Amino acid sequence: MYNMNMIESVIALFAPHSCLSCGDEGQLLCRSCWPKLGSPLASCCYLCARTTDDFTTCSSCKSISSLNSVRLRTKYQGIAKELVRRLKFERAKAASSIIADSMLELVIDQKSVNQEQILVPLPTASSRRRQRGYDHSQLIARRLASSLGVPYRPALTRLGQARQVGSKKIDRLSQMEGAFRIKFGAQVKDKDVLLVDDVLTTGASLEAAASCLLNSGARRVDALVFARA
Ligand SMILES: [Zn+2]
Ligand SMILES: [Zn+2]
Repeated sequence: MYNMNMIESVIALFAPHSCLSCGDEGQLLCRSCWPKLGSPLASCCYLCARTTDDFTTCSSCKSISSLNSVRLRTKYQGIAKELVRRLKFERAKAASSIIADSMLELVIDQKSVNQEQILVPLPTASSRRRQRGYDHSQLIARRLASSLGVPYRPALTRLGQARQVGSKKIDRLSQMEGAFRIKFGAQVKDKDVLLVDDVLTTGASLEAAASCLLNSGARRVDALVFARA
């Protein structure tokens, strides 16, 4: 957090925020350009794209998925792509706020916000986090959690960083996707988990995290993702 704030303030010394779309000074995405993010994507099974209710995984994909539903805010293109790029390389805090606020539209009608629900960020690979000094999915998840009034619980950690040394690239990739564990002391038993991530590509990481949570006693895992690549 310290690193990020420091970087943010140093950048702010040199340049005020200007809108990604129209260039107006003030915010990273101004209110009049906000609609350019588009409406939330239509409800469907995230694996086969069949139309479903409430973004649930369809009955045929249920057998291979640990996720009850995956809600996607937008496609990974245009302004959304630029926001994610900022999130990773500069203006992280401003970008994460915009991303989190836009994701609120995914759950605005959700009746299922309940006492047993927790919001868990999908952890970024720790080598990348070390380079940047912060975890961008945590920034998004924290803000979403406070807006939704759902407890924020960074319960997952990635494994396998050390074991990757010397393995073939393909092994490294599959280890990275597959390796999650529950942090010591984190309580996920009987919880309904909302997993949060910025970009969905294959969904392999999300599935691995969801199955880790279910194996540790979580009751149900749903996901909120900003952009679909
Ligand atoms: Zn604008
Ligand atoms: Zn399906």
